[in-house]
Amino acid sequence: MELPFAESFRIKMVEPIRRTTRAEREQFIREAKFNLFNLKSANVFIDLLTDSGTGAMSDRQWSEMMLGDESYAGASSFFKFRDAIRDIMGFEYVLPCHQGRAAENVLFSVLVKEGHLVPGNSHFDTTKGHIEFRKAKAVDCTIDEAFDTTLAHPFKGNIDLVKLEKVLAENGDRVPFIIFTITCNSSGGQPVSLANMKAVRQLADKYGKKIVMDSARFAENAYFIKVREDGCQNKSIREIVKEMFSYADAITMSAKKDAIVNIGGFIAMRDKDLFDKASVFEIIYEGYITYGGLAGRDLNAIARGLYEATEFDYLETRVRQVEYLGNKLMAMGIPIQQPVGGHAIFVDAKRFLPNVRKEEFVAQTLAVHLYVEAGVRGVEIGAILADRDPVTRENRYPELELMRLAIPRRVYTNNHMDVVAAGLKNIWDRRSTIKTGFKIVREAPIMRHFTVELEKI
Ligand SMILES: *Cc1c(COP(=O)(O)O)cnc(C)c1O
Repeated sequence: MELPFAESFRIKMVEPIRRTTRAEREQFIREAKFNLFNLKSANVFIDLLTDSGTGAMSDRQWSEMMLGDESYAGASSFFKFRDAIRDIMGFEYVLPCHQGRAAENVLFSVLVKEGHLVPGNSHFDTTKGHIEFRKAKAVDCTIDEAFDTTLAHPFKGNIDLVKLEKVLAENGDRVPFIIFTITCNSSGGQPVSLANMKAVRQLADKYGKKIVMDSARFAENAYFIKVREDGCQNKSIREIVKEMFSYADAITMSAKKDAIVNIGGFIAMRDKDLFDKASVFEIIYEGYITYGGLAGRDLNAIARGLYEATEFDYLETRVRQVEYLGNKLMAMGIPIQQPVGGHAIFVDAKRFLPNVRKEEFVAQTLAVHLYVEAGVRGVEIGAILADRDPVTRENRYPELELMRLAIPRRVYTNNHMDVVAAGLKNIWDRRSTIKTGFKIVREAPIMRHFTVELEKI
């Protein structure tokens, strides 16, 4: 008999979680103004809000925490951190930051100016926020296939070369750099192929542009390249990572994802001049250049986490758990983004709840139902997240209304995934009875999804 697949870790420490009753959950979500960010985590049974900062650190990472050097400047922890990034990613210059958006803030303070266009695959929300905040524009050049959730394209994170070249040819003088988000969070945790990175590099060189990679899930991207891209099966994850980053001039990183730590981030780059300019903003916004808003122990844990996240066994365990949930949902007929991405399942809410109007926030409606049904917290990736157009202030309705179920790294078992699937199945079975959603009663001027308040229609 063939031995089944099993996790490449065992559990040394546990954290209790509590089930609640449906009546309790109905009250909690009402008190939260139907915004899942406002729920107390103690009232959530299985928390799939995000895979950001929610991973379980390993025994090795915890032991690195004890070795942190908390010196203000020149701490050994900084050099351990810098050397890990040099070794794994191949960049000479490194600036630690307290998280990914802080890295964006520091780097974009140098590179992005009013009137600029920043083309890329679908930009992450904080990335877009930092671009628009500077009165510049994010231009989505993702391949069209990414927007058809039923199409099993292996690299839905790819940039469309025709769309990109159009931007570069028509408005090249307004483009400070091209941005690749790996994996592409906004289009469903979908990877970018090495071939696409290489082709975009050639275009960038033709027009004399830099490439920045938003690298939060770079290791998951490398895993998909290894298992899906022709000619890559025999390359190691580390070889693939090196090649991916050979096409970039600089990266921003949220270490809360693929460095498997609870807080942290960084910028890494090749160019000394860029490093010098970014260092000025680093000191204003983050802290001295060898700690950047982090404790020495955090830097140590990130260094260790980068090595662990680029081991094949870890990545296989990680991605296969996401696939496990995805396969279960597909077997139930539930419409999800295909193929399954690296860190999350994206449920196609428009197809799940066809009777709810887009103006009533379809994905949010589904997420509220799932919380009430099973105590599972997902998150809306739809019209609330897409926010208003910065100029017209009209609501933007994205092509996809998705409910994301992000799986924390090394945290839940497949029994938890079974609960999630059963909860969704119960809603699926009564979907024809769900006809109304929500309206907004209060919202912030930018990145409204975190604090928006809703009312039932
Ligand atoms: C999480 C994330 C960010 C922002 O990082 P934070 O650590 O949350 O500030 C940027 N880009 C992508 C692709 C991300 O997933």
